[in-house]
Amino acid sequence: MSRRRVIVLGGGIAGLSTAYFLARDGGVKVTLVEREPRHDAHSTGRSAEILRVAVDDPVTRALALETDRSLEDPASTSLDDGRLIERSGLVVLRTAEPTWAEDLQRRGLSTRVGAAFLAQVAPEIEVPERDSPLDRRAHWVERGGRIQGARLVASLARGASAAGATILRSAGEAQVLEERGAVRGVRVHGGQRLEADQVVVAAGAWSGAVARTLGLDLPLRTTRRQMFLTEPDGLSPTPPPVIWDDDAEFYIRREGSRWAVSVCEVLDAAAPDHHYPIHPELRARAAEAVRMWIKGPRPPLTLERGWSGFRDLSPDDRPILGPDSRLAGLHWCCGLGGHGMTLSLGVGRASASAVLGRPTELAAQCTMKRFESVPA
Ligand SMILES: Cc1cc2nc3c(=O)[nH]c(=O)nc-3n(C[C@H](O)[C@H](O)[C@H](O)COP(=O)(O)OP(=O)(O)OC[C@H]3O[C@@H](n4cnc5c(N)ncnc54)[C@H](O)[C@@H]3O)c2cc1C
Repeated sequence: MSRRRVIVLGGGIAGLSTAYFLARDGGVKVTLVEREPRHDAHSTGRSAEILRVAVDDPVTRALALETDRSLEDPASTSLDDGRLIERSGLVVLRTAEPTWAEDLQRRGLSTRVGAAFLAQVAPEIEVPERDSPLDRRAHWVERGGRIQGARLVASLARGASAAGATILRSAGEAQVLEERGAVRGVRVHGGQRLEADQVVVAAGAWSGAVARTLGLDLPLRTTRRQMFLTEPDGLSPTPPPVIWDDDAEFYIRREGSRWAVSVCEVLDAAAPDHHYPIHPELRARAAEAVRMWIKGPRPPLTLERGWSGFRDLSPDDRPILGPDSRLAGLHWCCGLGGHGMTLSLGVGRASASAVLGRPTELAAQCTMKRFESVPA
């Protein structure tokens, strides 16, 4: 009997991870089509790569924790690179009690800390004063750090190919083909038609546009976010914990001998395109934050470069994956929002399980079904 054919449209982290877990299963024939010559041309190559399991939505958090376990032991998922995470820990500052705190504390993964702890683990950082003292708002989350994004992408691509997936890069703007109420495949660069029984759309910020070509709506909000990198400061490159201030909407992590920062803005993007502008006002806010947060250097460190990228946000901050009941054979793997690297392996496994018709418990809670209105 011939194997079912599955096309994954989009080869960022979501598509790559889905293709990897599908190919490893062996039950289906997998083709991944990516418009660009590289997998990291868009959001996947533009992220801060922070592993943050301290996430409010419980399902998203569970996917993050699953990814964390796999990154810790890549061999458990047969990935061939053992160095996928730089484990520095994470300090989250939030005055209101976070919904994740009780869960992570119960698992022994987070604990409250105070000013003395911060002074010890991150002596270069000066947390600006706020109304509530640090020991009422600082949480130490051990399962934090920096994901080695380029290695993860390369390892997933190698693994998918080795397991039999075909990876087509520079495939152009692929279009999903529909006939008689079911997907039939995709059309790629040069008009070539690739037949398939199922298509998984993992097109990141472009997923909404793909949906519209099929006359469908996706509840996604496309936003931009920017990041900045300081000049080198000559201090030790050993990374202190990532510090994420939810109250001030700011994060800072070490990158070699520099600091990477973001002021966590959420800017709506009319439609995703290939332009990645830097907003001068945000650059000024980031420079001011660097002056406030980093002790010592006078004059303050300057920002050497900045970049921006898209984040596709779902209404409940949970990915959208699995089948779409409106069109037979159509699956989604999108809406990874600000968590795509943190969710990478968990999302790929869940997405593949849904395509294979054996959805895991987490996959079942991520489908489009949750947005269907209840009949009156
Ligand atoms: C500044 C910034 C900082 C971030 N920081 C973090 C962080 O610290 N931690 C974290 O976990 N996440 C972070 N994120 C979020 C993370 O980067 C994203 O959630 C993740 O990369 C999304 O991956 P994706 O595969 O869905 O999208 P993408 O990487 O954009 O991949 C989608 C792919 O689909 C392709 N495509 C689109 N349309 C078509 C088509 N018609 N045919 C063929 N191919 C197509 C595109 O070329 C693209 O390669 C950050 C994002 C930004 C912008």
